[in-house]
Order: sequence, then C-alpha cells, then structure tokens
Amino acid sequence: MTGPAAKEAVVAPLLSWFRRNARDLPWRRGYDPYHILVSEFMLQQTQMDRVVVYFLEWIRRFPTLKALARADEAEALKLWEGLGYYSRCRNLLAAARTIVETWNGRVPEDPASLMTLPGIGPYTAGAVSSIAYNRPVPAVDANARRVVSRLEARPFRNDRDVASFLAGIIPDDEPRSFNQALMELGALVCTAARPSCDVCPLNSACKGRSSGAIPLTPSAAVMRRPTRPAAAAVLFAGGKVFLRRRPDAGLWAGMSEFPWEETAPDESPESAARRAIAPFYEETGAVGVIGPVSHAFTGNRIRLTGVLLRLRPERETPESLARAHGRWVPLETLSDETLPAGSRKLRDLLLRDVNSRSHPEMTPEGV
Ligand code: SF4
Repeated sequence: MTGPAAKEAVVAPLLSWFRRNARDLPWRRGYDPYHILVSEFMLQQTQMDRVVVYFLEWIRRFPTLKALARADEAEALKLWEGLGYYSRCRNLLAAARTIVETWNGRVPEDPASLMTLPGIGPYTAGAVSSIAYNRPVPAVDANARRVVSRLEARPFRNDRDVASFLAGIIPDDEPRSFNQALMELGALVCTAARPSCDVCPLNSACKGRSSGAIPLTPSAAVMRRPTRPAAAAVLFAGGKVFLRRRPDAGLWAGMSEFPWEETAPDESPESAARRAIAPFYEETGAVGVIGPVSHAFTGNRIRLTGVLLRLRPERETPESLARAHGRWVPLETLSDETLPAGSRKLRDLLLRDVNSRSHPEMTPEGV
C-alpha cells in the first residue's frame, strides 16, 4: 500500500487514535524545542516512565538552553546519574553550547543542521524537527520500524527504506502528531512480543494481521544474557575511599568507579577484587563484603560484590600512588560523586553501613 491509499487507510485512524490516547508527557505541553531536545536525548535507550522523572528535575535545574550551555559538566552528570549511557549527557551539553555559539541559542529546525550537533543522528534529527517544529520529516525509531514492517507485512532493508515509505504518507498538516502517534502505537499497542491487534486502529489496513504473518520480537526477558559474577575493590584508608578513573574513550569514558574485575571460575570475590586493585596497591587487608548488586550495561549483566579492603598503613601515602590512576575521596563527600550504576549501588550500600556502623573500621575517622 502506497500513496493516497495508504494515507487514507492509515493516517486518519492513527491520528484519531492518538488524539484519544496520547500520554500526557511534560514535553508535550507547549512543544518547546529545548524540551523536545532534552527529552529525545534522554529517551535514547531509556524507558519513558523513568525519563519523565529525570526530565522534570533537569528542566527545574536548567530551565533554558542557555542555562544548560553555562552548566558545569560535573553537575549535569550528577543530575543524569541513574539514566546511564553518560555520553548522552555530555553530548547534550556540547550540543547546547554549540547551539548558543552557532545558532544564537535557537535549536535548529532542519534535520541536516541538527545532525551536525554531537549525539544527533537521523532519528533524533527527524524527531526534533517534526515534534518541535512540525516539519514533515519521518522519525524512525524501533517502535515506528516495527509498526510499519507489520503494516506492510515485509521486512524493510534499513531505516532509510522505512523513512522513504513514511515520507509518502506523512501528512503535511500534522507531522508532529503523526510521528508521535506511530511511535506511541508501537509502544502501547503494536508491542514487540504481544501486539493487541483487536484494539489497534490500523487493524483493517494491516497486511500483517490479514495475512497472519506478524513477526514477533522475543521479549527482553527471553533475550536476557546470563549474569556473570564480578567483584569490586572498595579500598579505604584515612577515612577516604579509592576511585579509579576510567579511560577517556569507550564505556563510561572518564568516569570514576570502584575498580572491578569479572570473577574467574572457582575464584573468590576477594581474589578478583585484589586483582582489580593490584595495578595500584598490593598490600591490603580484607575486612568485609557488601552487596552483591546487579548491573546491566550494553547487553551485559554482572552481579557485583564489593570487597572492603584496607590499605596497610606502612605503605606509601595513598595520594602519591593514586594520582595517575584515580582519586581518594573522603567518605563525607562520596555521595556527591557521579558513578556508573554498579559502583553507585555499592556506594549507597557502603554509606548506609557506615552510617549504621556495620563496619566500624570505615568511619571517616577510621584508619
Ligand atoms: S493490526 Fe496488529 S500487527 Fe497490525 S499494526 Fe496493529 S497491532 Fe500491529
């Protein structure tokens, strides 16, 4: 189905459904381009429900794009903590600064200009252009791709093919609603594992339904990878805790964390934690364990045990050894640090134990 026939069979029922079922989301109240930009960065790889909470807090702290452009990166990362994929936060901050410098603080309208900004690819450019400025540009995310594939009962070669199909039916007068409606339908009705065809507004036009050939995507639970054990070294001395600095490129680039290693078969958490800390410190005494906590990232899942290690007092001063690899952070300010999820969960357990004196050696006055 193409052209006018597709438009008639798909557009009107989809828009009518969206008017009745659109979720009340904070960035949909006024469609401020800055709000749309923030929401689209946050929605990359994160569920809608979680994003709403972070979005409201973010806008409260950085109410305008210019306020964000002036922000300190450490503060922005702290606010982002828990959303994961921290490069998104850095890219959003860099994009805000570029928009202030190059576009006088106004988010660009056209996809080509948007794609010159850090962290913006074809999907985000299409979403911002259509949702913020009501331009007739397709926005192909996983939900839109799935709905269109089922509607047409054929796999599309790539997102560009989906976009060219959508370009033929996207209505000039309501592109903002159309793109959101398609993605919303995929999120709420035409879901990956269990499409609700009986209540779908497109069921009379859907070739997948009429042919009985609706490809189902295995749910995330089915695809979940096995959990691997790992151990983190929570090394302390003089009321401070050691945090390793990650490399400047790759996963969690430049962030601090408790040094950790995956646990080998038959290896104890204490042994793996000592391996993690060995490049920096060798003479340590183990005093306890916290966790484990689970941590999922980029298709991996680990079960992370924190091993409390104390630096032997006769060794060199911690600061001189740590300088090249990380930092010693006082327990009193540890909660201010922005950490990847696994280290953050261990940090929260640690501070709870310190406050309840479960580990008397680890008071701010200790060792
Ligand atoms: S009829 Fe079913 S398969 Fe077709 S678009 Fe609607 S929910 Fe998806």
